[in-house]
Amino acid sequence: REYLVASQFVPLLGWHVSTMVNYASIASSRNTAILIALLLIAVIIMGGGMLVNRQNRLRKEQRSQQAFALRLERQVRDRTFALTEANQRLEVEVDERRIAEKNLRETQEELVQAAKLAGIGQMSAALAHEYNQPLAAIRSYADNALIFLTKDQANFAADNLQRIKMLTDKMAGLTRTLRNFAHKSTGRYESVSLEAVMDELIILLSPQAKKLRVKLQLLPPSLPLSVLGDYGRLSQIMTNLTTNAMDAVADSENKRVEITWQQREDKAVISVKDTGSGIDPAVREKMFTAFFTTKNPGSGLGLGLFIVINIVNDLKGTLSIKDEPGYGAVFEVSLPLAE
Ligand code: ADP
Repeated sequence: REYLVASQFVPLLGWHVSTMVNYASIASSRNTAILIALLLIAVIIMGGGMLVNRQNRLRKEQRSQQAFALRLERQVRDRTFALTEANQRLEVEVDERRIAEKNLRETQEELVQAAKLAGIGQMSAALAHEYNQPLAAIRSYADNALIFLTKDQANFAADNLQRIKMLTDKMAGLTRTLRNFAHKSTGRYESVSLEAVMDELIILLSPQAKKLRVKLQLLPPSLPLSVLGDYGRLSQIMTNLTTNAMDAVADSENKRVEITWQQREDKAVISVKDTGSGIDPAVREKMFTAFFTTKNPGSGLGLGLFIVINIVNDLKGTLSIKDEPGYGAVFEVSLPLAE
């Protein structure tokens, strides 16, 4: 057997004490220690390798992230530039559109005005008649007043002068209505009484209705209604629809035009109904386009319904054509009520 000897001198006793340890057990401990040391070294080497690997990976990742960030930054810069350019182009386009819209609106206003004046032209024959009657009457009352004055009958003369005054008031009223109608629209949105619009409509169109022997009837609701809009434009909608309705009944036996207006939820619904022969489907398709007319030159410009639909759209309303038994055409305009 092999032993490992360890000696020590003990001075007190003057002895050398030796211990003999079996070498095989030491060798196995040493081997275990070496194995552990080797394992530890392997673990450290592997750990170090992994650490280095990880650091390398992290560095690589960082580099690729930096590259990605740089690429992204470049892309964002390019995009921003493209967007700024597109935005500038859009701004120019918006400005152009705005100008075009303004021009269109002005042209539309002028068209409305021209059509209105044309309408007054068409009414003029009937209106001249409307003026002639009271003028003739004024003439007679003036003659009478003169005669009564020469006969010293001042009471009778005063009575005739009073009649003249009433007739001139009536004529002035008609002139005022005509002048109002001819005025350009204000373009301001405010609360407009439908009753006032309809009263004016009757003053303007009843001479023509009388001349054409059309019964023009207003059927007001029990409570007055006001809508949001401007007076001139609303008046234009009503005269255009009513003139069309009066034209439509020209060949009918029963010449009647009815105008009703009533509240339906938060809207005022105005209906213009006539007893004409209705609207041909081919006409219905085109009737809202500008300058489309089936009337003789001189009696129709083809702008009436074009103007009506534009104003109704402007006032955030709707227009529909209904079929109702007993009537030819029924135009229904729905407009937001004023608060
Ligand atoms: P215009 O009255 O000058 O012809 P409008 O634009 O007002 O122009 O009308 C276009 C056409 O629509 C008219 O020519 C007519 O054929 C048709 N129309 C309009 N209103 C009626 C109606 N109430 N009944 C039948 N047809 C109508």
